[in-house]
Amino acid sequence: MHAIVYHGPGQKAWEEVPKPMIEDDTDAIVKVDTVTICGTDLHILKGDVAAVTDGRILGHEAVGTVENVGSGVKNVKVGDRVLVSCITACGACRYCRDGSYGQCIGGGGWILGHKIDGTQAEYVRVPFADTSTYAVPAGVTDEEVLMLADIGPTGYEVGVLNGRVRPGDVVAVVGAGPVGLSAIMGAKLFSPAHVVAIDLADARLEAAKQFGADITVNPAREDAVAIVQGLTEGLGADVAIEAVGVAPTFEQCTTLVRPGGTVANVGVHGGPATLHLEDLWIKNVTITTGLVDTYSTPTLLRLLATHQIDLARFVTHRFAMADFLEAYDTFADAAQTRALKVVLTA
Ligand code: NAD
Ligand code: ZN
Repeated sequence: MHAIVYHGPGQKAWEEVPKPMIEDDTDAIVKVDTVTICGTDLHILKGDVAAVTDGRILGHEAVGTVENVGSGVKNVKVGDRVLVSCITACGACRYCRDGSYGQCIGGGGWILGHKIDGTQAEYVRVPFADTSTYAVPAGVTDEEVLMLADIGPTGYEVGVLNGRVRPGDVVAVVGAGPVGLSAIMGAKLFSPAHVVAIDLADARLEAAKQFGADITVNPAREDAVAIVQGLTEGLGADVAIEAVGVAPTFEQCTTLVRPGGTVANVGVHGGPATLHLEDLWIKNVTITTGLVDTYSTPTLLRLLATHQIDLARFVTHRFAMADFLEAYDTFADAAQTRALKVVLTA
């Protein structure tokens, strides 16, 4: 079969590799029908994720058809259409028993396209198949479901739910990439008074409007803190969601939030940020961090199946898997191509 294989920083190839086989009796082999590329894959290609080594097949998002299952797999059957989630769950460890699958210490967590071969391939081996895949509901497309492999639950759990968004809140979302847009979409489920999207790219701000932001701010031209204070009688946002992953945007979130509010950090940070405790200690501010757990995936699948959320609008570009390298170029050049999510099909 063919797969996207990582060969060290800046090096990847769509190349012939052995087809995966069942290794543990809880594995499934899934034929990948639809797959996408994550911003995190670009981080890996920059060499930012040391655990990914030469020869690793990338990718942690897919929708596919089950081709084979191990003898210990009970609920997933050959021929089933399944969502392969970015998080694998052993289902039995202390963290999995608590729904914190991202922190799994029984062999799961974020492993696909990281510690084991991933989904950017014609076939993928999925460990702990019963607790790491989700049946695709009737009446929805593979593409829509694919948006729940990572970005959907990430924006919702780590942004909206960690941020404790409530009806009537003013929610500021810094970074309107796929993850920030997913946080905007999730926040709207709670009827906020205002959703303020903050991004340096005007194309992303336009997308934010389509996803439900009623106010957009480009900090290159406008003062985000002044705008949010203007909406809140000088207090600040009830919830500030960081969806970029650099120190200045985290620090900005701590200035956007009101006393008693919450800063929910979603971004993956490669370096330290300053915590201004000298300003924050008196403000009763809560700061949350998190790797997505995907405990919300069943909820989001129900919202998708009943048309309460629209995931199709994330997909801006489509490719055949044979054109994987072109898809990577399009996704990496989002400022020019206006890409949000690119989808590849077998
Ligand atoms: P992305 O790169 O597509 O989007 C980031 C956005 O931030 C872009 O639109 C960019 O224009 C904007 N931006 C950059 N600098 C800015 C600044 N100074 N002020 C305002 N906006 C700025 O990324 P994405 O795919 O949407 O992911 C967002 C973050 O979430 C990344 O750090 C990603 O690694 C992380 N992530 C976290 C988890 C998790 O479990 N916590 C899971 C998936 C992704
Ligand atoms: Zn576990």
